[in-house]
Amino acid sequence: MRTTQTKKHWSKKAVVFSALAAVLALSGCGGGDEQVNESPDGKVTLNFLTQSSPLAPADPNDKLINKRLEEQTGIHINWKNYTSDVFIEKRNLAVASGDLPDAIFDAGYGDYDLLKLAKDGVIIPVEDLIDQHMPNFKKILDENPEYRNMLTAPDGHIYSFPWIEELGSGKEAIQSVDNFPWINVEWLDNLGLEMPTTTEELKEVLIAFKTQDPNGNGQADEIPLSFINKPGGEDLTFLFASFGLGENWDHTVVTNDGKVVFTAAEEGYKEAVSFIHELYKEDLIDIEAFQQDWNTYLAKGKDHRYGLYFTWDKANITGMNDSYELLPPLAGPSGEVNVTRTNGIGFDRGRMVITSSNEKLEETAKWVDQLYDPLQSVQNNWGTYGDDTQQNIFELDEEKGMLKHLPLEGTAPVELRQKTSIAGPLTILDEYFGKYTTMPDDAAWRLQLMKDVMVPHMKAENTYPKVFFSIEELDSLSTIEADLFPYLERMRTEWYQNGKVEQEWDEYLKELDRLGLQEWLSIKQAGYDRFTQ
Ligand code: CA
Repeated sequence: MRTTQTKKHWSKKAVVFSALAAVLALSGCGGGDEQVNESPDGKVTLNFLTQSSPLAPADPNDKLINKRLEEQTGIHINWKNYTSDVFIEKRNLAVASGDLPDAIFDAGYGDYDLLKLAKDGVIIPVEDLIDQHMPNFKKILDENPEYRNMLTAPDGHIYSFPWIEELGSGKEAIQSVDNFPWINVEWLDNLGLEMPTTTEELKEVLIAFKTQDPNGNGQADEIPLSFINKPGGEDLTFLFASFGLGENWDHTVVTNDGKVVFTAAEEGYKEAVSFIHELYKEDLIDIEAFQQDWNTYLAKGKDHRYGLYFTWDKANITGMNDSYELLPPLAGPSGEVNVTRTNGIGFDRGRMVITSSNEKLEETAKWVDQLYDPLQSVQNNWGTYGDDTQQNIFELDEEKGMLKHLPLEGTAPVELRQKTSIAGPLTILDEYFGKYTTMPDDAAWRLQLMKDVMVPHMKAENTYPKVFFSIEELDSLSTIEADLFPYLERMRTEWYQNGKVEQEWDEYLKELDRLGLQEWLSIKQAGYDRFTQ
Protein backbone atom coordinates (compact mmCIF):
# COMPACT_ATOMS: atom_id res chain seq x y z
CA MET A 1 0.00 0.00 0.00
CA ARG A 2 2.46 2.65 1.05
CA THR A 3 6.03 3.00 0.01
CA THR A 4 8.93 4.53 1.82
CA GLN A 5 9.66 6.34 -1.39
CA THR A 6 6.57 8.47 -1.44
CA LYS A 7 7.17 9.41 2.15
CA LYS A 8 10.39 11.25 1.42
CA HIS A 9 9.46 13.03 -1.74
CA TRP A 10 7.20 15.87 -0.85
CA SER A 11 6.76 18.31 -3.64
CA LYS A 12 8.98 21.28 -3.20
CA LYS A 13 8.06 24.78 -3.99
CA ALA A 14 10.13 27.26 -2.07
CA VAL A 15 7.65 29.87 -1.02
CA VAL A 16 9.20 31.52 1.95
CA PHE A 17 12.82 30.71 1.69
CA SER A 18 14.84 31.63 4.72
CA ALA A 19 18.24 31.01 6.18
CA LEU A 20 16.61 28.22 8.11
CA ALA A 21 15.56 26.56 4.87
CA ALA A 22 19.12 26.53 3.67
CA VAL A 23 20.21 24.79 6.85
CA LEU A 24 17.51 22.17 6.45
CA ALA A 25 18.39 21.59 2.82
CA LEU A 26 22.04 21.06 3.74
CA SER A 27 21.10 18.65 6.49
CA GLY A 28 19.34 16.56 3.90
CA CYS A 29 15.70 17.04 4.82
CA GLY A 30 13.48 16.68 1.80
CA GLY A 31 14.64 15.05 -1.38
CA GLY A 32 15.30 16.60 -4.74
CA ASP A 33 14.23 13.67 -6.88
CA GLU A 34 11.25 13.44 -9.10
CA GLN A 35 7.95 13.61 -7.33
CA VAL A 36 6.03 10.40 -6.76
CA ASN A 37 2.30 10.94 -6.89
CA GLU A 38 0.88 7.47 -7.14
CA SER A 39 1.21 4.48 -4.90
CA PRO A 40 1.97 1.15 -6.60
CA ASP A 41 -1.70 0.18 -6.79
CA GLY A 42 -2.49 3.30 -8.79
CA LYS A 43 -4.02 5.32 -6.01
CA VAL A 44 -3.46 9.04 -5.87
CA THR A 45 -1.15 9.89 -3.01
CA LEU A 46 -1.26 13.10 -1.01
CA ASN A 47 1.33 14.20 1.54
CA PHE A 48 -0.13 15.54 4.76
CA LEU A 49 1.53 16.92 7.85
CA THR A 50 -0.37 16.27 11.07
CA GLN A 51 -0.30 15.79 14.83
CA SER A 52 -1.83 13.27 17.16
CA SER A 53 -1.92 12.15 20.77
CA PRO A 54 0.92 9.93 22.02
CA LEU A 55 -1.82 7.39 22.77
CA ALA A 56 -2.74 7.15 19.08
CA PRO A 57 -0.94 4.94 16.52
CA ALA A 58 2.25 6.57 15.19
CA ASP A 59 0.98 6.02 11.65
CA PRO A 60 -2.50 7.55 11.31
CA ASN A 61 -3.21 5.01 8.54
CA ASP A 62 -3.37 2.36 11.26
CA LYS A 63 -6.61 3.94 12.46
CA LEU A 64 -9.69 2.16 11.19
CA ILE A 65 -11.29 5.47 10.20
CA ASN A 66 -8.42 6.30 7.86
CA LYS A 67 -8.37 2.79 6.40
CA ARG A 68 -12.03 3.11 5.52
CA LEU A 69 -11.50 6.60 4.10
CA GLU A 70 -8.76 5.34 1.80
CA GLU A 71 -10.98 2.53 0.57
CA GLN A 72 -13.87 4.89 -0.01
CA THR A 73 -11.99 7.70 -1.78
CA GLY A 74 -9.23 5.78 -3.53
CA ILE A 75 -6.79 8.34 -2.16
CA HIS A 76 -3.76 7.31 -0.17
CA ILE A 77 -2.56 9.78 2.44
CA ASN A 78 1.13 9.75 3.16
CA TRP A 79 1.25 11.18 6.68
CA LYS A 80 4.07 12.90 8.44
CA ASN A 81 2.80 12.68 11.98
CA TYR A 82 4.17 14.36 15.09
CA THR A 83 2.93 14.01 18.64
CA SER A 84 1.06 17.09 19.80
CA ASP A 85 3.81 18.24 22.18
CA VAL A 86 6.33 18.86 19.37
CA PHE A 87 3.95 19.46 16.47
CA ILE A 88 3.89 23.27 16.44
CA GLU A 89 7.68 23.46 16.32
CA LYS A 90 7.92 20.83 13.55
CA ARG A 91 5.11 22.47 11.61
CA ASN A 92 6.80 25.86 11.74
CA LEU A 93 10.11 24.35 10.65
CA ALA A 94 8.49 22.62 7.70
CA VAL A 95 6.81 25.82 6.59
CA ALA A 96 9.95 27.91 7.07
CA SER A 97 11.98 25.42 5.02
CA GLY A 98 9.61 25.78 2.08
CA ASP A 99 9.47 21.99 1.86
CA LEU A 100 5.72 21.99 2.10
CA PRO A 101 3.31 19.09 2.41
CA ASP A 102 0.14 19.16 0.27
CA ALA A 103 -1.93 20.02 3.30
CA ILE A 104 -1.70 20.38 7.07
CA PHE A 105 -4.31 18.39 8.96
CA ASP A 106 -5.17 19.31 12.57
CA ALA A 107 -3.08 22.34 11.73
CA GLY A 108 -3.61 24.28 14.96
CA TYR A 109 -3.51 27.65 13.22
CA GLY A 110 -4.93 30.82 14.75
CA ASP A 111 -6.35 33.73 12.78
CA TYR A 112 -3.08 35.64 12.67
CA ASP A 113 -1.25 32.56 11.31
CA LEU A 114 -3.84 32.03 8.60
CA LEU A 115 -3.68 35.61 7.36
CA LYS A 116 0.11 35.72 7.48
CA LEU A 117 0.50 32.38 5.65
CA ALA A 118 -2.00 33.51 3.03
CA LYS A 119 -0.14 36.78 2.56
CA ASP A 120 3.15 34.90 2.18
CA GLY A 121 1.63 32.52 -0.34
CA VAL A 122 2.13 29.41 1.81
CA ILE A 123 -1.56 28.48 1.90
CA ILE A 124 -4.19 28.97 -0.78
CA PRO A 125 -7.79 30.19 -0.81
CA VAL A 126 -10.28 27.33 -0.96
CA GLU A 127 -13.66 28.94 -1.64
CA ASP A 128 -13.68 27.86 -5.31
CA LEU A 129 -12.78 24.30 -4.34
CA ILE A 130 -15.67 24.31 -1.88
CA ASP A 131 -18.09 25.51 -4.56
CA GLN A 132 -16.91 23.09 -7.22
CA HIS A 133 -15.77 19.94 -5.48
CA MET A 134 -17.14 19.86 -1.96
CA PRO A 135 -20.91 19.24 -1.99
CA ASN A 136 -21.09 18.12 1.65
CA PHE A 137 -19.30 21.14 3.03
CA LYS A 138 -20.98 23.55 0.60
CA LYS A 139 -24.38 22.35 1.80
CA ILE A 140 -23.41 23.03 5.41
CA LEU A 141 -22.25 26.57 4.58
CA ASP A 142 -25.29 27.27 2.40
CA GLU A 143 -27.69 26.14 5.09
CA ASN A 144 -25.75 27.79 7.94
CA PRO A 145 -24.53 31.08 6.49
CA GLU A 146 -23.19 32.21 9.87
CA TYR A 147 -20.39 29.66 9.47
CA ARG A 148 -19.49 30.93 5.99
CA ASN A 149 -19.41 34.37 7.56
CA MET A 150 -17.06 33.24 10.35
CA LEU A 151 -14.81 31.45 7.91
CA THR A 152 -14.40 34.29 5.44
CA ALA A 153 -11.31 36.45 5.94
CA PRO A 154 -11.55 40.26 5.71
CA ASP A 155 -10.24 40.03 2.12
CA GLY A 156 -13.20 37.86 1.13
CA HIS A 157 -11.30 34.56 0.83
CA ILE A 158 -11.63 31.34 2.78
CA TYR A 159 -8.23 29.95 3.76
CA SER A 160 -9.03 26.94 5.90
CA PHE A 161 -11.40 24.12 6.71
CA PRO A 162 -12.97 24.42 10.17
CA TRP A 163 -13.97 22.11 12.99
CA ILE A 164 -17.56 22.81 14.01
CA GLU A 165 -19.21 21.09 16.95
CA GLU A 166 -22.65 22.13 18.12
CA LEU A 167 -24.00 20.78 21.38
CA GLY A 168 -27.20 22.74 21.85
CA SER A 169 -27.43 26.12 20.17
CA GLY A 170 -28.08 29.75 21.05
CA LYS A 171 -28.64 30.24 24.79
CA GLU A 172 -28.90 26.46 25.20
CA ALA A 173 -25.40 25.84 23.81
CA ILE A 174 -23.20 23.79 26.12
CA GLN A 175 -20.61 26.63 26.22
CA SER A 176 -23.16 29.24 27.35
CA VAL A 177 -21.87 29.05 30.92
CA ASP A 178 -18.50 27.42 31.61
CA ASN A 179 -18.13 28.04 35.34
CA PHE A 180 -21.13 26.24 36.79
CA PRO A 181 -21.49 26.82 40.57
CA TRP A 182 -21.82 23.59 42.59
CA ILE A 183 -23.16 23.77 46.16
CA ASN A 184 -22.86 21.12 48.86
CA VAL A 185 -26.49 20.11 49.44
CA GLU A 186 -25.49 17.49 52.01
CA TRP A 187 -24.23 20.32 54.20
CA LEU A 188 -27.39 22.33 53.57
CA ASP A 189 -29.44 19.31 54.71
CA ASN A 190 -27.27 18.64 57.74
CA LEU A 191 -27.74 22.22 58.92
CA GLY A 192 -31.43 22.40 57.96
CA LEU A 193 -30.78 25.22 55.48
CA GLU A 194 -32.64 26.05 52.29
CA MET A 195 -30.97 26.54 48.91
CA PRO A 196 -29.98 30.23 48.83
CA THR A 197 -31.82 32.43 46.33
CA THR A 198 -30.07 35.79 46.88
CA THR A 199 -26.48 36.90 47.27
CA GLU A 200 -27.19 37.82 50.91
CA GLU A 201 -28.63 34.36 51.59
CA LEU A 202 -25.57 32.81 49.99
CA LYS A 203 -23.36 34.76 52.36
CA GLU A 204 -25.39 33.51 55.35
CA VAL A 205 -25.15 29.92 54.10
CA LEU A 206 -21.39 30.17 53.64
CA ILE A 207 -21.03 31.57 57.17
CA ALA A 208 -23.03 28.62 58.47
CA PHE A 209 -20.80 26.23 56.52
CA LYS A 210 -17.79 27.82 58.19
CA THR A 211 -19.07 27.94 61.75
CA GLN A 212 -21.52 25.07 62.22
CA ASP A 213 -19.49 21.98 61.34
CA PRO A 214 -21.77 20.77 58.55
CA ASN A 215 -19.69 17.62 57.95
CA GLY A 216 -20.08 16.77 61.64
CA ASN A 217 -16.50 15.77 62.43
CA GLY A 218 -16.01 18.28 65.23
CA GLN A 219 -13.36 20.23 63.29
CA ALA A 220 -13.57 23.52 61.40
CA ASP A 221 -12.12 21.89 58.28
CA GLU A 222 -14.79 23.08 55.86
CA ILE A 223 -13.87 25.43 53.01
CA PRO A 224 -17.03 27.47 52.42
CA LEU A 225 -16.03 28.73 48.97
CA SER A 226 -13.25 27.77 46.57
CA PHE A 227 -12.33 28.64 43.00
CA ILE A 228 -9.30 29.16 40.74
CA ASN A 229 -8.63 32.85 40.37
CA LYS A 230 -8.15 33.09 36.64
CA PRO A 231 -10.61 33.44 33.77
CA GLY A 232 -12.18 30.08 32.92
CA GLY A 233 -14.39 27.27 34.14
CA GLU A 234 -13.21 27.34 37.76
CA ASP A 235 -13.56 31.08 38.33
CA LEU A 236 -16.21 32.49 40.69
CA THR A 237 -17.21 35.24 38.27
CA PHE A 238 -20.47 33.39 37.67
CA LEU A 239 -21.64 35.30 40.79
CA PHE A 240 -21.02 38.69 39.12
CA ALA A 241 -24.23 38.45 37.05
CA SER A 242 -26.31 39.11 40.18
CA PHE A 243 -25.03 42.69 40.03
CA GLY A 244 -25.55 43.58 36.37
CA LEU A 245 -24.18 42.44 33.04
CA GLY A 246 -21.73 40.12 34.78
CA GLU A 247 -18.38 38.75 33.67
CA ASN A 248 -16.98 36.09 31.33
CA TRP A 249 -13.47 34.92 30.47
CA ASP A 250 -12.83 37.45 27.69
CA HIS A 251 -14.45 40.36 29.53
CA THR A 252 -16.76 41.02 26.58
CA VAL A 253 -20.56 41.16 26.45
CA VAL A 254 -22.98 42.66 23.96
CA THR A 255 -26.12 44.57 24.96
CA ASN A 256 -29.47 43.74 23.41
CA ASP A 257 -29.13 46.77 21.13
CA GLY A 258 -25.79 45.57 19.81
CA LYS A 259 -23.32 47.61 21.84
CA VAL A 260 -20.06 45.89 22.76
CA VAL A 261 -19.28 46.33 26.44
CA PHE A 262 -16.06 45.73 28.35
CA THR A 263 -17.37 44.03 31.51
CA ALA A 264 -14.65 45.20 33.88
CA ALA A 265 -15.49 48.90 33.62
CA GLU A 266 -19.15 48.53 34.64
CA GLU A 267 -20.77 49.76 37.88
CA GLY A 268 -22.20 46.28 38.45
CA TYR A 269 -18.73 44.80 38.16
CA LYS A 270 -17.53 47.11 40.90
CA GLU A 271 -20.42 46.00 43.15
CA ALA A 272 -19.67 42.36 42.43
CA VAL A 273 -16.04 42.81 43.43
CA SER A 274 -17.22 44.47 46.66
CA PHE A 275 -19.44 41.49 47.39
CA ILE A 276 -16.56 39.06 46.92
CA HIS A 277 -14.54 41.19 49.35
CA GLU A 278 -17.35 40.84 51.91
CA LEU A 279 -17.00 37.07 51.63
CA TYR A 280 -13.23 37.38 51.90
CA LYS A 281 -13.54 39.56 55.01
CA GLU A 282 -15.71 36.90 56.66
CA ASP A 283 -12.95 34.39 55.94
CA LEU A 284 -15.21 32.33 53.70
CA ILE A 285 -12.84 32.05 50.74
CA ASP A 286 -10.23 29.34 50.30
CA ILE A 287 -6.92 31.07 50.89
CA GLU A 288 -5.40 28.84 48.17
CA ALA A 289 -7.87 30.15 45.59
CA PHE A 290 -5.39 32.83 44.53
CA GLN A 291 -2.61 30.48 43.50
CA GLN A 292 -3.88 26.92 43.34
CA ASP A 293 -3.64 24.78 40.26
CA TRP A 294 -6.08 22.15 39.03
CA ASN A 295 -4.54 19.31 41.08
CA THR A 296 -4.73 21.16 44.38
CA TYR A 297 -8.28 22.20 43.57
CA LEU A 298 -9.17 18.63 42.68
CA ALA A 299 -7.62 17.07 45.80
CA LYS A 300 -9.79 19.13 48.18
CA GLY A 301 -12.78 18.64 45.93
CA LYS A 302 -12.43 14.86 46.03
CA ASP A 303 -12.50 15.07 49.83
CA HIS A 304 -15.73 17.07 49.64
CA ARG A 305 -14.28 19.97 51.60
CA TYR A 306 -16.04 22.68 49.58
CA GLY A 307 -19.35 24.34 50.36
CA LEU A 308 -19.45 26.05 46.96
CA TYR A 309 -17.05 25.70 44.05
CA PHE A 310 -16.98 26.23 40.31
CA THR A 311 -16.29 23.99 37.35
CA TRP A 312 -17.66 22.80 33.99
CA ASP A 313 -18.89 19.43 35.29
CA LYS A 314 -18.93 18.36 38.96
CA ALA A 315 -18.02 14.80 37.93
CA ASN A 316 -14.48 16.01 37.35
CA ILE A 317 -14.00 17.42 40.86
CA THR A 318 -16.44 16.02 43.45
CA GLY A 319 -17.71 13.04 41.46
CA MET A 320 -21.03 12.13 39.95
CA ASN A 321 -22.94 11.80 43.23
CA ASP A 322 -25.75 13.57 45.08
CA SER A 323 -23.58 15.58 47.48
CA TYR A 324 -23.42 18.60 45.17
CA GLU A 325 -26.07 20.30 43.07
CA LEU A 326 -26.05 23.17 40.65
CA LEU A 327 -26.65 26.45 42.51
CA PRO A 328 -29.40 28.37 40.70
CA PRO A 329 -28.53 31.98 39.75
CA LEU A 330 -29.04 34.37 42.66
CA ALA A 331 -30.94 37.62 42.91
CA GLY A 332 -28.60 40.52 43.69
CA PRO A 333 -29.30 43.65 45.80
CA SER A 334 -31.64 45.04 43.13
CA GLY A 335 -33.66 41.82 43.10
CA GLU A 336 -32.67 41.08 39.51
CA VAL A 337 -31.49 37.64 38.46
CA ASN A 338 -29.16 37.32 35.48
CA VAL A 339 -26.88 34.72 33.91
CA THR A 340 -23.99 35.98 31.78
CA ARG A 341 -23.27 34.05 28.60
CA THR A 342 -19.74 33.24 27.47
CA ASN A 343 -18.70 33.95 23.90
CA GLY A 344 -17.49 30.38 23.44
CA ILE A 345 -18.71 28.21 20.59
CA GLY A 346 -17.54 24.92 19.12
CA PHE A 347 -15.71 26.46 16.18
CA ASP A 348 -12.04 26.20 15.24
CA ARG A 349 -11.27 28.14 12.10
CA GLY A 350 -7.80 26.89 11.22
CA ARG A 351 -8.23 23.11 11.45
CA MET A 352 -6.84 22.29 8.01
CA VAL A 353 -5.07 24.21 5.25
CA ILE A 354 -3.98 23.40 1.70
CA THR A 355 -0.55 24.63 0.70
CA SER A 356 0.59 26.27 -2.52
CA SER A 357 2.67 23.16 -3.27
CA ASN A 358 -0.43 21.05 -3.75
CA GLU A 359 -0.85 19.96 -7.36
CA LYS A 360 -3.82 17.70 -6.73
CA LEU A 361 -6.35 20.21 -5.54
CA GLU A 362 -9.44 18.50 -6.85
CA GLU A 363 -8.55 15.16 -5.24
CA THR A 364 -7.63 16.91 -1.99
CA ALA A 365 -10.95 18.76 -1.95
CA LYS A 366 -12.87 15.56 -2.57
CA TRP A 367 -11.06 13.79 0.26
CA VAL A 368 -11.68 16.67 2.67
CA ASP A 369 -15.32 16.89 1.64
CA GLN A 370 -15.80 13.29 2.71
CA LEU A 371 -14.94 14.41 6.25
CA TYR A 372 -17.98 16.70 6.23
CA ASP A 373 -20.41 13.85 5.58
CA PRO A 374 -22.50 13.70 8.79
CA LEU A 375 -21.76 10.08 9.72
CA GLN A 376 -18.09 10.60 8.96
CA SER A 377 -17.87 13.82 11.01
CA VAL A 378 -19.34 12.07 14.02
CA GLN A 379 -16.70 9.33 13.88
CA ASN A 380 -13.84 11.72 13.23
CA ASN A 381 -14.81 13.67 16.33
CA TRP A 382 -15.40 10.82 18.77
CA GLY A 383 -14.25 7.48 17.38
CA THR A 384 -15.71 4.67 15.40
CA TYR A 385 -17.57 1.33 15.33
CA GLY A 386 -16.78 -2.23 14.29
CA ASP A 387 -13.11 -2.29 15.31
CA ASP A 388 -12.24 -5.91 16.14
CA THR A 389 -8.92 -4.98 17.70
CA GLN A 390 -10.04 -2.55 20.39
CA GLN A 391 -12.94 -1.02 22.30
CA ASN A 392 -15.47 0.93 20.25
CA ILE A 393 -17.18 4.20 21.12
CA PHE A 394 -20.12 3.41 18.84
CA GLU A 395 -22.16 0.68 17.28
CA LEU A 396 -23.69 1.32 13.87
CA ASP A 397 -27.42 0.87 13.45
CA GLU A 398 -27.34 0.14 9.74
CA GLU A 399 -31.08 0.27 9.30
CA LYS A 400 -31.33 3.80 10.67
CA GLY A 401 -27.92 4.89 9.42
CA MET A 402 -27.18 6.05 12.94
CA LEU A 403 -24.26 5.72 15.35
CA LYS A 404 -25.15 4.80 18.90
CA HIS A 405 -22.84 5.37 21.87
CA LEU A 406 -21.84 2.14 23.62
CA PRO A 407 -21.31 1.90 27.39
CA LEU A 408 -17.73 2.94 28.24
CA GLU A 409 -17.34 0.25 30.90
CA GLY A 410 -14.99 2.35 32.96
CA THR A 411 -12.78 3.56 30.11
CA ALA A 412 -12.04 7.28 30.15
CA PRO A 413 -13.87 8.70 27.12
CA VAL A 414 -11.07 11.15 26.35
CA GLU A 415 -8.48 8.37 26.08
CA LEU A 416 -10.64 6.18 23.88
CA ARG A 417 -11.38 9.15 21.65
CA GLN A 418 -7.69 10.02 21.30
CA LYS A 419 -6.82 6.47 20.25
CA THR A 420 -9.54 6.06 17.66
CA SER A 421 -10.81 9.43 16.39
CA ILE A 422 -8.93 11.53 13.84
CA ALA A 423 -10.37 14.99 14.66
CA GLY A 424 -9.48 17.33 11.78
CA PRO A 425 -12.03 19.40 9.93
CA LEU A 426 -15.61 18.27 10.50
CA THR A 427 -19.07 19.50 11.33
CA ILE A 428 -21.51 18.23 13.91
CA LEU A 429 -24.72 20.23 13.87
CA ASP A 430 -27.24 20.16 16.69
CA GLU A 431 -29.77 18.59 14.34
CA TYR A 432 -27.53 15.50 13.92
CA PHE A 433 -28.41 14.25 17.40
CA GLY A 434 -31.13 11.64 17.21
CA LYS A 435 -30.65 11.46 13.46
CA TYR A 436 -27.04 10.45 12.82
CA THR A 437 -25.83 9.88 16.35
CA THR A 438 -26.81 9.67 19.98
CA MET A 439 -25.42 12.33 22.28
CA PRO A 440 -22.66 11.53 24.79
CA ASP A 441 -24.29 11.09 28.23
CA ASP A 442 -22.16 13.74 29.94
CA ALA A 443 -23.13 16.34 27.34
CA ALA A 444 -26.84 15.45 27.46
CA TRP A 445 -26.88 15.82 31.24
CA ARG A 446 -25.12 19.18 31.20
CA LEU A 447 -27.35 20.53 28.42
CA GLN A 448 -30.44 19.66 30.45
CA LEU A 449 -29.09 21.55 33.47
CA MET A 450 -28.26 24.51 31.26
CA LYS A 451 -31.76 24.57 29.84
CA ASP A 452 -33.60 24.09 33.15
CA VAL A 453 -31.51 26.23 35.50
CA MET A 454 -29.56 28.82 33.51
CA VAL A 455 -31.30 29.63 30.23
CA PRO A 456 -34.48 31.11 31.79
CA HIS A 457 -32.30 33.81 33.43
CA MET A 458 -30.05 34.74 30.50
CA LYS A 459 -30.98 38.32 29.69
CA ALA A 460 -28.49 38.85 26.88
CA GLU A 461 -29.84 38.04 23.44
CA ASN A 462 -26.42 38.55 21.84
CA THR A 463 -22.96 37.17 22.38
CA TYR A 464 -19.71 38.35 20.85
CA PRO A 465 -19.22 36.30 17.67
CA LYS A 466 -16.09 34.72 16.18
CA VAL A 467 -15.14 37.79 14.17
CA PHE A 468 -12.35 37.29 11.63
CA PHE A 469 -10.26 40.42 12.20
CA SER A 470 -7.61 41.77 9.86
CA ILE A 471 -3.90 41.40 10.62
CA GLU A 472 -3.72 45.08 11.63
CA GLU A 473 -6.71 44.72 13.97
CA LEU A 474 -5.30 41.52 15.48
CA ASP A 475 -1.99 43.30 16.06
CA SER A 476 -3.69 46.17 17.89
CA LEU A 477 -5.99 43.93 19.93
CA SER A 478 -3.22 41.64 21.11
CA THR A 479 -0.93 44.55 21.96
CA ILE A 480 -3.65 46.18 24.08
CA GLU A 481 -4.82 42.95 25.71
CA ALA A 482 -1.28 42.05 26.74
CA ASP A 483 -1.43 44.95 29.23
CA LEU A 484 -5.13 45.47 29.79
CA PHE A 485 -6.14 41.96 30.86
CA PRO A 486 -3.33 41.31 33.36
CA TYR A 487 -3.96 44.75 34.87
CA LEU A 488 -7.66 44.14 35.43
CA GLU A 489 -7.01 40.69 36.87
CA ARG A 490 -4.36 42.03 39.23
CA MET A 491 -6.58 44.89 40.44
CA ARG A 492 -9.55 42.60 40.90
CA THR A 493 -7.51 40.21 43.03
CA GLU A 494 -6.19 43.07 45.15
CA TRP A 495 -9.72 44.39 45.67
CA TYR A 496 -11.08 40.97 46.64
CA GLN A 497 -8.53 41.03 49.43
CA ASN A 498 -8.19 44.69 50.46
CA GLY A 499 -11.69 45.97 49.65
CA LYS A 500 -10.51 49.27 48.19
CA VAL A 501 -12.45 49.02 44.93
CA GLU A 502 -14.64 52.03 45.79
CA GLN A 503 -11.69 54.35 46.56
CA GLU A 504 -9.56 53.25 43.62
CA TRP A 505 -12.24 52.87 40.94
CA ASP A 506 -11.85 56.24 39.18
CA GLU A 507 -8.10 55.89 39.01
CA TYR A 508 -8.58 52.37 37.63
CA LEU A 509 -10.92 53.59 34.87
CA LYS A 510 -8.33 56.17 33.84
CA GLU A 511 -5.64 53.51 33.71
CA LEU A 512 -7.85 51.28 31.53
CA ASP A 513 -8.12 54.12 29.03
CA ARG A 514 -4.41 54.76 29.19
CA LEU A 515 -3.85 51.09 28.33
CA GLY A 516 -5.99 51.44 25.22
CA LEU A 517 -9.50 50.42 26.29
CA GLN A 518 -11.23 52.91 23.96
CA GLU A 519 -9.29 51.69 20.93
CA TRP A 520 -9.96 48.08 21.93
CA LEU A 521 -13.69 48.84 22.17
CA SER A 522 -13.81 50.56 18.81
CA ILE A 523 -12.05 47.65 17.04
CA LYS A 524 -14.31 45.12 18.75
CA GLN A 525 -17.41 47.17 17.94
CA ALA A 526 -16.41 47.59 14.29
CA GLY A 527 -15.80 43.85 14.04
CA TYR A 528 -19.17 43.14 15.61
CA ASP A 529 -20.99 45.53 13.27
CA ARG A 530 -19.25 44.04 10.25
CA PHE A 531 -20.14 40.54 11.34
CA THR A 532 -23.79 41.20 12.09
CA GLN A 533 -24.66 43.57 9.25
CA1 CA B 1 -16.04 19.92 60.16
